[in-house]
Amino acid sequence: MFYQQAFDVIVVGGGHAGTEAALASARMGVNTLLLTHNIETIGQMSCNPAIGGIGKGHLVKEIDALGGAMGLATDHAGIQFRTLNSSKGPAVRATRAQADRTLYRHAIRKTVESQPNLTLFQQSVDDLIVENDRVTGVVTQMGLKFSAKTVVLTVGTFLGGTIHIGLENYRGGRAGDPPSIALADRLRALPFRVDRLKTGTPARLDARSLDFSVMQEQPGDDPVPVVSFMGDRSMHPRQIPCYITHTNENTHEIIRSGLDRSPMYTGLIEGVGPRYCPSIEDKIMRFADKGSHQIFVEPEGLNSIEVYPNGISTSLPFDVQMAMVRSIRGFENAHIVRPGYAIEYDFFDPRDLRQTLETKFIDGLFFAGQINGTTGYEEAGAQGLVAGANAALQVQQKDPMILRRDQAYMGVLIDDLATMGTKEPYRMFTSRAEYRLLLREDNADSRLTALGREIGLVDDDRWQAFNQKREQVEQELGRLRAQYIHPEHAAAPQLNDMLKNPVSREHSLEELIRRPEMTYSQLMEIESLGPRLQDPIAAEQVEIQIKYAGYIARQLDEIAKAQRHENTLLPVDFDFAQISGLSNEVVAKLSEARPETIGKASRISGVTPAAISLLLVYLKKHG
Ligand code: FAD
Repeated sequence: MFYQQAFDVIVVGGGHAGTEAALASARMGVNTLLLTHNIETIGQMSCNPAIGGIGKGHLVKEIDALGGAMGLATDHAGIQFRTLNSSKGPAVRATRAQADRTLYRHAIRKTVESQPNLTLFQQSVDDLIVENDRVTGVVTQMGLKFSAKTVVLTVGTFLGGTIHIGLENYRGGRAGDPPSIALADRLRALPFRVDRLKTGTPARLDARSLDFSVMQEQPGDDPVPVVSFMGDRSMHPRQIPCYITHTNENTHEIIRSGLDRSPMYTGLIEGVGPRYCPSIEDKIMRFADKGSHQIFVEPEGLNSIEVYPNGISTSLPFDVQMAMVRSIRGFENAHIVRPGYAIEYDFFDPRDLRQTLETKFIDGLFFAGQINGTTGYEEAGAQGLVAGANAALQVQQKDPMILRRDQAYMGVLIDDLATMGTKEPYRMFTSRAEYRLLLREDNADSRLTALGREIGLVDDDRWQAFNQKREQVEQELGRLRAQYIHPEHAAAPQLNDMLKNPVSREHSLEELIRRPEMTYSQLMEIESLGPRLQDPIAAEQVEIQIKYAGYIARQLDEIAKAQRHENTLLPVDFDFAQISGLSNEVVAKLSEARPETIGKASRISGVTPAAISLLLVYLKKHG
């Protein structure tokens, strides 16, 4: 039986990719259906209730700049906020928030339920309707058919999911949820390349059984960071600290003694796990000389007794988990509320996707999130937004939205996936981006909001706030450029006290801020040089744009150069070893990948802009 109403876009799955996909398409005015297993789990965080961090925080800001939900939901749910790398340059500074998982889910659900053009339906999707290599709808578990012009699949870790705890295993999508077996079988019958990955999670502990007095307290930052460009501190719930403790030699001995019953070390798990987020048994084996590993003890919510011990993800048998946990300082009497586990699931080779996240074999079918081999809420949300927007654009018969690598981490993410694929769960790092100085958290709005507005992702309020900030920053930059101070200026003595070298000639205020010892806010302490911008976010923009102007200009030059050489051909049998100056690692990577063009060579991870310059010099000389 067909459901009476046909939709433009159907999104399958209500996780992080699915909600951003459905919201994006609905924001663009397209008639959208979000079909998910269980409406109660919309926006559920399967693992650690934390959003952001290095690389991931950048994605959250970009999702937010395009009108997505993740940033504001984090502001409504965050119980501890920090800026990571705060002492480093602005390119690698990243916001991270520990969230109350219930508040987060509520915030996402509220956003979804108040979004016009978006219909919800609870059922498992078991099948796709495909006619002449084009998807035309889906079929649910009870045989109900839904028609649509496009379908976005965001089914996370659920496809053929198997949960492992020690040598025991059973089918599941994540703890407490059923797997998607029928859909996995259907997808395996299509021509996509499919493989298995695995991820894991630690046991959750009862806070009442822990001794926090022997752990190191880790408060959030003061002033408390805000995530969304539309957020403010008044949205934040009560703030609470996290704690730090450590594993010890005894813990490691207990883990080693349980390895003969580990699904990973006995070969039961075939899927590859995240190298950058390894299980504790993996860490003990890989870093055998390390006597201790740090554990962040993170509350799961303001009204929850559950605590997430970040750093001891495991799939060891339950008795080993118990002994391991209780060997840790502060956890001696710990009660495990939920056991840790690993999950293995199907993912599809993202090289079978276009840059829009539409599949190459079935028109109108898009994949986003963990199904593409990524890990993390932020990576999922970013892909969801791009897939949802492109599904809607296709329905509207408009040009697709393809973000470039020099434009957004979202562009880096999708380009990496679609061109190189992945052999392990892919997560974002700042090191994956060539143009880090341009792709900062703080300027995600100036990179993306206008583009989002153009295609209907950005509403009036956000657009107005964005323009207001942009005007403030531009006006202030103009003022600082035009206002000069000379040695006889009344403010010169006060200024000289702040400077290494006193002003000996006329200087613009912009030039003074460029000096390493000076900041915008310090300069504005001299009253006659103000008034300063009252909005700290706009003030930060002014400072960054002045201080980093030279580096930014250089990076823009590099981009222009790379674009000029994007399609420069490399000979098929090119011997990379003959280029002096290239590291052995780069030679090995280039020789294995055999890129056809300079553009493709530059996107191989580990092939640096410096290596590309050497290649170009060589080609020019010998070409
Ligand atoms: P999910 O959040 O999994 O959402 C999938 C949605 O699809 C769910 O709503 C589900 O109900 C629905 N669904 C599935 N099948 C169907 C169907 N057939 N019909 C209808 N609806 C369906 N990330 C990290 O960054 N670090 C970690 O350490 C980490 N550890 C993890 C450990 C575990 C055990 C798990 C399960 C996940 C872990 N993650 C981790 C990953 C993180 O949870 C995911 O990357 C993220 O949730 C992926 O988002 P998604 O939207 O792609 O999928």
